[in-house]
Amino acid sequence: MSLLNRPYFLSEPAAIAYLEGVLWPEGPTCPHCGNADSAKIGTLKGASTRPGLKKCYACRKQFTVKVGTVYESSHIPLHKWLQATFLMCASKKGMSAHQLHRILEVTYKTAWFMAHRIREAMAEHKLPPMGGEGKPVEADETYVGGKERNKHRSKRDPKNIGGVGKAMVFSLVERGGRVRSRHMPSVNTSNLRQILTAQLKSGTAVMTDDAGQYRHVGRDFSHQSVNHGIGEYVRGDAHTNTIEGYFSILKRGVTGTYHHVSQQHLKRYLAEFDFRYNERAGLGVNDSDRADKALAGIVGKRLTYRDSSTAVG
Ligand SMILES: [Zn+2]
Repeated sequence: MSLLNRPYFLSEPAAIAYLEGVLWPEGPTCPHCGNADSAKIGTLKGASTRPGLKKCYACRKQFTVKVGTVYESSHIPLHKWLQATFLMCASKKGMSAHQLHRILEVTYKTAWFMAHRIREAMAEHKLPPMGGEGKPVEADETYVGGKERNKHRSKRDPKNIGGVGKAMVFSLVERGGRVRSRHMPSVNTSNLRQILTAQLKSGTAVMTDDAGQYRHVGRDFSHQSVNHGIGEYVRGDAHTNTIEGYFSILKRGVTGTYHHVSQQHLKRYLAEFDFRYNERAGLGVNDSDRADKALAGIVGKRLTYRDSSTAVG
């Protein structure tokens, strides 16, 4: 028996029922009026009725579990969405739209659209501060993007050496805990201070390398740094090995799987890599649990309460 033989990957009614179980563990909620009284919600049946079609007797409107989610008004069958979500959650370095296009037998354009919707589902907004007493946080930045030397000579830009032409990613990782990353044009003393004071609990020990922008971290936090310039990588508790491990997964994913990530979409790729790291096997999350967490994230990424009764997923 393979994981991919699960009925919800193969049939539409099973896929709908599965998603209902994930999103409505206590029973359905009407996305139009918020009614959650199961006595006032009926399931419509009949040969020509779409699977999972509900009717709310409080507001008289119809809905399915897809209303108000990233799957709403998609022509792609839900079981293919569940396959795509599972594949992206189970692949440590990500799954390109080309791979999804071949595996799911949908067009490349559709696969690309699906992958970005799933990344949106993985995105976590309004995150609470990290760190605190006894929970050191490593801070570092890296560059991602296509390497000039890998491009055809005619496409190389001599200006694109080092970080030029690439996108800077700044990340914070709590040791043994979570990561959060963002795309930044540059990191300097002042925007770094803003980020750290907003994202970290007071009393957090911050670990960095000796780059200039980290020189004043000690004003707000207990700060230790290692001097990579003289070959120093670990000194007692001071190191940035955790965040460098994360960056290596991110870079292998971006250059190996996605080849090129436009700066416009980088935010979504970062959400994807952060999500998989935060729901990693090392924290006891298996592939199925991780996919369920991504499914739970599809809600509320689109307007939930709709005026139009015609918008039935
Ligand atoms: Zn209703």
